[in-house]
Amino acid sequence: MRNLKDLFPAELAGVAKSLGAPAYRGRQIFRWLHARAAKTFEEMTDLPAELRAELAQRFSTGYAPVILRQEDPFDGTAKYLLRMADGAVVETVRMEYRYGASVCVSSQVGCRQGCIFCASTIGGKERDLTAGEMIEEVLAVQRELPAGRRVHSVVVMGMGEPLENYDEVLRFVRLAHEPDGLHLSYRHLTVSTCGIVPGIDRLAGENLPITLAVSLHAPNDELRNRLLPVNRRWPLAELMRAVRDYIARTGRRVTFEYAMILDTNDSPEHARELAALLQGVLCHVNLIPLNPIQGSPLGASPRQRIVEFRAILQSRGIPTTIRRQLGLAIEAACGQLRRRELTGEAKARRLRGPLPVLPERT
Ligand code: SAH
Repeated sequence: MRNLKDLFPAELAGVAKSLGAPAYRGRQIFRWLHARAAKTFEEMTDLPAELRAELAQRFSTGYAPVILRQEDPFDGTAKYLLRMADGAVVETVRMEYRYGASVCVSSQVGCRQGCIFCASTIGGKERDLTAGEMIEEVLAVQRELPAGRRVHSVVVMGMGEPLENYDEVLRFVRLAHEPDGLHLSYRHLTVSTCGIVPGIDRLAGENLPITLAVSLHAPNDELRNRLLPVNRRWPLAELMRAVRDYIARTGRRVTFEYAMILDTNDSPEHARELAALLQGVLCHVNLIPLNPIQGSPLGASPRQRIVEFRAILQSRGIPTTIRRQLGLAIEAACGQLRRRELTGEAKARRLRGPLPVLPERT
């Protein structure tokens, strides 16, 4: 069944008209789905009963139940497992910052990029998510916030490579910005890529003041080829060319993410090489202490080494911060998300965490 959450107000007006209803019903439906997070058509009490029945017969609201919710007891980060209409299970993370709630959205079920330090890629890619499914990820978090509070920011940094699912991710970004919907500021929206160069070039032409984040993790091709297979397709020279063009065309500062991996990419020499690579580029570097993934031999750099690395970058004029590690206790931190095939209580129980299955809220 067609998921109406994938559609813009104007497209919903078309749906309304096709059912013999006036066009303005489209905007009403949009408001119910996005701003009021309705789960069913029956809830849309200011629509005529016949229209609601007609809609329910032909379309879906895209509501995805939360089948598991875990909260990190230390930092309040929460991880949600959502079950989509076809049974695909998707992970979404809520992070609490001083300025409000931020949602980390998955853009694909699984991932096929093969980065050797990331759990999302284990098992490959199952499918792309649609724009409406990504909106539903945000709504899962929005529904839990106290009345009057809205999601403040969204980072497309969950499972998957957003620029490989370009059209749906861009539709999601625009849907999330709709004034009658989540009404998220473009400036509070970040899309993160492992370095899909044609996607960056395309994004530069969209004229959207969102933030582009690039997962760099290595200052030279030899090392980056080993860590991120995507680098063999689009090496650093091409990636940096695309990033420079992006900055020139949008005027926006780009974020580089750099996971600090013990004895791999974390020496003072690497820091100097990185500073040289980024010299003169309008950017900001975010150092992420590597989060452990099960079965991986890669370790995190000690704090002192990360601090030294930051100092070298800063002394060369590169704005650098160290990212707080959130959600470690529930495997919700960067790179720890992975597809889970949940078939029953037994499997669900294997997931660690203080909170078991969330009862349906109505
Ligand atoms: N595919 C996109 C978005 C998802 S990854 C991308 O690559 O940017 C979100 C961020 O987490 C990326 O910067 C990714 O490189 C980083 N990451 C992956 N595994 C990690 C790990 N084990 N520890 C720390 N960061 C990790």
